[in-house]
Amino acid sequence: MKPTDVTQVLKDTDYVRVSGSEEERRAAGYLKDRCEALGARAWIEPFPVDAAEIHTASLTADGRTIPCRGYKLCGSGTVRAPLVYLPNTDPASLIRARDSIVLLDTGISYWVYHDLLDNGVKGIITYDGDVHYPDDDIDQKMLRPYVSCGEKVLCANINAKEAFRLMAAGAREAEISIQQTESKADSCNVVAEIPGQTDEWIILSAHYDSTPLSHGAYDNMTGCIGLLGIMETLIGTAPHRYGLRFLFCGSEEVGLLGSKAYTAGHEEDLKKIVLNINLDMLGTFMGKFIACVSAEEKLRHFIEYFCAIRGWGIESRQDVYSSDSTPFADHGVPALSFARIAPRSQATIHNRYDTAEVLSPEQMCRDIDFLADFTRTLADAFRCPVGRDIPEKVKTRLDEYLLRKRKES
Ligand SMILES: [Zn+2]
Repeated sequence: MKPTDVTQVLKDTDYVRVSGSEEERRAAGYLKDRCEALGARAWIEPFPVDAAEIHTASLTADGRTIPCRGYKLCGSGTVRAPLVYLPNTDPASLIRARDSIVLLDTGISYWVYHDLLDNGVKGIITYDGDVHYPDDDIDQKMLRPYVSCGEKVLCANINAKEAFRLMAAGAREAEISIQQTESKADSCNVVAEIPGQTDEWIILSAHYDSTPLSHGAYDNMTGCIGLLGIMETLIGTAPHRYGLRFLFCGSEEVGLLGSKAYTAGHEEDLKKIVLNINLDMLGTFMGKFIACVSAEEKLRHFIEYFCAIRGWGIESRQDVYSSDSTPFADHGVPALSFARIAPRSQATIHNRYDTAEVLSPEQMCRDIDFLADFTRTLADAFRCPVGRDIPEKVKTRLDEYLLRKRKES
């Protein structure tokens, strides 16, 4: 892939594409067309996602109106209660949540949410953005169904500057009011294939959806361009020993729903998949290349040796990655994620600043060359040597990440 092609794909997909939206489907169609143009068979696999339409959402603090967005899927109604800032959610802090609306510094994770509910919280306020950014954007959040588990409490999101103002003003009481209609929508995965000499496969994945404020150039059209670049490079030398399947995931940003739908819907196929290589964020001007291996430690060592031989800088670890490699590892498929992680001062994500301007088409092409080289090496293996057993250490991290087990603090 040439730098001009990278720039073209970023231009063609320069729009917000959230889970279940018309724009997400448009991006899926675009990626499918791109795969077919490269000569790969490609198709779209839809799956249902929860959705909501917010009709009204308001927040007042001591009678002053604070710009806010209500969380989708957090229910409807009005709640008024004392406002309590809760920077910690340890047992002593949680006692202060009773009959209050709490302001958190974090997002609403499963354990934080249920700890708050168990301690009688009446409403939750979160914030994002940055007091130093010029914008006053407020992200449209969703109370994920696997977080709420049907137990709902009104939640509102505000800008970081307003959170600071609330604390500076010593706000004592808040009222949250939300009206919404909850429904279902369709999201989809795009799948493309380059068949191999055997009926065993390496599956390469990357998500193409974005968060509501973001055009998702870095996170993660770059991963999708990575897949297209690998496809373009390796289709010319096909068939390789292993088939190559490319999975462009929808709805990653709302809880890895695309890869979860794929792994749940293809249990039999997974037995023939020897490895998942996931790409989530590449091609920035600045930033280090990393590998997160959700498989045996030997694979991490192989990657480090491979990179040393090629003169390619890398930092690797054995862990689960908050991306589409995780559902594969959880289904017993050895998985790894590659990423180029930019310093936060250079490229941020999930906001309006995630644009093509932070990306280097030339670096993107170098990242693709490395990834195609790595993929080819394994796709041409006489036998893919990666062990199929997921180590206990990774299984524990999967249990924690997928909320089956609380992380020991
Ligand atoms: Zn991502």
